[in-house]
Amino acid sequence: MTDLTLAQWQQRAESLKIESRAFIDGKYCEAVCSQRFECISPVDGRVLAHVSSCDSADADLAVAAARRVFEAGDWSRKAPAQRKKVLIRFSELLLEHREELALLETLDMGKPISDSLNIDVAGSANAIRWSAEAIDKVYDEVAPTPHDQLGLVTREAVGVVAAIVPWNFPLMMASWKLGPALATGNSIVLKPSEKSPLTAIRVAQLALDAGLPAGVLNVVPGYGHTIGKALGLHMDVDTVVFTGSTRTAKQLMIYAGESNMKRVWLEAGGKSPNIVFADAPDLKAAAEAAASAIAFNQGEVCTAGSRLLVEGSIKNTFLPMVVDALKGWTAGNPLDPATNVGALVDTQQMSTVLSYIESGQSGGAKLVTGGKRVLEESGGTYVEPTIFDGVTNAMKIAQEEIFGPVLSVITFADAEEAVRIANDTQYGLAAAVWTRDISKAHLTAKALRAGSVWVNQYDGGDMTAPFGGFKQSGNGRDKSIHAFDKYTELKATWIKL
Ligand code: NAD
Repeated sequence: MTDLTLAQWQQRAESLKIESRAFIDGKYCEAVCSQRFECISPVDGRVLAHVSSCDSADADLAVAAARRVFEAGDWSRKAPAQRKKVLIRFSELLLEHREELALLETLDMGKPISDSLNIDVAGSANAIRWSAEAIDKVYDEVAPTPHDQLGLVTREAVGVVAAIVPWNFPLMMASWKLGPALATGNSIVLKPSEKSPLTAIRVAQLALDAGLPAGVLNVVPGYGHTIGKALGLHMDVDTVVFTGSTRTAKQLMIYAGESNMKRVWLEAGGKSPNIVFADAPDLKAAAEAAASAIAFNQGEVCTAGSRLLVEGSIKNTFLPMVVDALKGWTAGNPLDPATNVGALVDTQQMSTVLSYIESGQSGGAKLVTGGKRVLEESGGTYVEPTIFDGVTNAMKIAQEEIFGPVLSVITFADAEEAVRIANDTQYGLAAAVWTRDISKAHLTAKALRAGSVWVNQYDGGDMTAPFGGFKQSGNGRDKSIHAFDKYTELKATWIKL
């Protein structure tokens, strides 16, 4: 929680100065084409800024700046301990500008201000710091060679990284890329979502202030897919790292094949199952976690627990507990520190979510609670947290990622059926299991085709463990030391002795 009140946040919002230009080679600049696009706040529908709309000409400039500094070695050849120092300062600056960044994030994408402060900005600073602190503690290898040979196995920065990120955790998803990419010595061109570009634009200056050489971090906002496509097809980008939808992820693989076979690392969508067995150790805790798993961040979470799989024998006891827990999640003004459900990111996303709710109803599922747009008079885009019972896994609402606060409740008879339903999806990002039987917990966790599995909790984890997906939820991993794999090439050097 923050000490500021709703009125104080509103006052700050009125006087907030917003930088809305691209950041290339250490300077803010207009897009080459001089075009701008409207950045609309989902909080109340007002225009926050007119943001530079970059295209391939800006991609060329940003990539050239990134390449130049990479080759010059101002950053790439700095000692890891030196890079660490700059990045720790960058992380500190994020925290020193915590309120400004949180306000930008909330106004831009509608999430509650308390979450922006305590989760997004705090988590972003932590992600940068974690990678920075790790980088002078990782060692390369010496191969087990014959006596007259020395085989060095070393990791080298890949070069120019294009990072394309989504709107649901704008700064945090960027930071999960920036931390390991910069720590390993790469240069970056960051492409924020057109729905939430403001924090990425702002932090470029903070990175420079922290001591990052000009050109190492460039930020190119843009409307639609133009700038992302230009980066995806660019012949001088060595790696694309992406977080966003599975549809765009696949497109980036095509771009790589059509251009220079750049490495493509993808963190994509999810439709995560949250499995509650009758022997869950604490049904109340499970119900509260199920509610938070779908309502937190308005359900705009890749790991949202959007499919609640409940053992049939406890459904009638458990579902009312979830409904009750969800009453604690109410849409409200995101600038109010007490609000825990904010606005959906824009009118388009709201229409998508409402159309899935219609599909649930027309498809035969039973609407238990929620289902409507609320607070329309605010001019913002708010939808009530919603639960559907009687869902079968074949229904559209159980198969497609809604990316809103809409929960599908599905029953199962035994562990085998639970696993079959859980895995019956194109996605494999996350899953949870609630049981007091340790063997059942382990066996179910092993059988689940997902990159993260939680037992007797939902959404646990920190920077120490890798995060990413099986199947069409992506490849590669963010967070932890494993994230460095995406930003480095392995080199074998053979020396004849
Ligand atoms: P999106 O795929 O529409 O957009 C993501 C980014 O790609 C944006 O910056 C967008 O401008 C850009 N883009 C769009 N079309 C492009 C193209 N043709 N070429 C290059 N770039 C293009 O996704 P979104 O709606 O911004 O984000 C929501 C999605 O992100 C959900 O599917 C969610 O599950 C996923 N997500 C995944 C994770 C994870 O870690 N796995 C985390 C957060 C969000």
